[in-house]
Amino acid sequence: MSPHQQLKDEICRDGPVDIGRFMGLALEHYYGTRDPFGQAGDFTTAPEISQMFGEILGAWAAQVWIDMGCPGRFTLLELGPGRGTLMADVLRATSRVAGFHDALEIKLLEISPVLRQKQAEALAGYKPEWISDLADLPEIPLILLANEFLDALPVRHIEYKGGVWQERAVGLEGETFVFTHKPVPFDLIELIPPVLPAPKDGDILELSPGRAAFMEDVFELLKNRTGAGVLIDYGYARAAYGETLQAIYRHQFCSVLAHVGEADITAHVDFSAIQRAAVKAGVKAFGPMEQGAFLKDLGIEARCAMLMKNSTPLQAEALRKSLRRLTHSDEMGSLFKVMGLTYGLEHGIAGFAS
Ligand code: SAH
Repeated sequence: MSPHQQLKDEICRDGPVDIGRFMGLALEHYYGTRDPFGQAGDFTTAPEISQMFGEILGAWAAQVWIDMGCPGRFTLLELGPGRGTLMADVLRATSRVAGFHDALEIKLLEISPVLRQKQAEALAGYKPEWISDLADLPEIPLILLANEFLDALPVRHIEYKGGVWQERAVGLEGETFVFTHKPVPFDLIELIPPVLPAPKDGDILELSPGRAAFMEDVFELLKNRTGAGVLIDYGYARAAYGETLQAIYRHQFCSVLAHVGEADITAHVDFSAIQRAAVKAGVKAFGPMEQGAFLKDLGIEARCAMLMKNSTPLQAEALRKSLRRLTHSDEMGSLFKVMGLTYGLEHGIAGFAS
């Protein structure tokens, strides 16, 4: 059944659905039925812009593995690997790190059968395994990578109206989806950041119980296995009122309620919520840093210069442009943030000044 029909049925049966339910169903269909990346798709991500992105994350992963004492077996996990480009670049960049490839077991958490197929093609020659549940990982140390994964997990909105919080929801007017409201369940109220000033009428707050629950599982994994992770996404470092839900259809913004299941829907990641939850769980959180600074600290400019030495003038120009796109604050450099997580590591973590 199309997500459109399923949502209609649910709304007719039970009344308006929360935005998280709407987003979850729409995205499951969206990712499950296409390769959304690149010019012909809806959007482009950092690993698709340049191999340098994955190469730098490869250097990061190798350094973390060395800091962990070079465990003889470890899981290299990627969340939502898209076309598999990032993992392929990480693996190529680390092929000469003595012992690293012998020790790693590649695991991919991916919901989409179409993208699992793409990942298998990109990683031919390696032995990746796909998992549907984090609990399926072996009890060995873990290094985790996630680029633009958390922004795909559903968010919900509450709005302060007439002195009370109400939840924003999606209802039907005839055949058309429209925004409406419903009462707020207690578990959402519990997620309101403690640091916010008192709300004013009309204030909207974006919360993500889905992301919070997912991160709880990640923290448990790290605590049971030791290791480190890096989370990269567009997001913000301080909790604030407002909402960031957006839909993109063929490289153009559109209404979140239009093109259900055919448009990419995302929301910026509240890194402060992840940081608070990490502290509560006893996991160390680093950053968030801006992506530009993170990539530069790990040597992306030197890597670019090296690639340029062996390139034609046209290729050199493309490299220069990619470097700018990934690092400049007018492009992805500031909007995208990087957060590090560790458990059981004595010192800091590569890429984050401690
Ligand atoms: N990391 C890739 C792709 C980002 S798009 C890149 O940077 O290019 C988001 C990815 O997460 C896609 O691969 C999508 O299919 C996957 N995904 C989205 N929701 C998911 C979920 N709930 N569980 C597992 N994978 C999911």
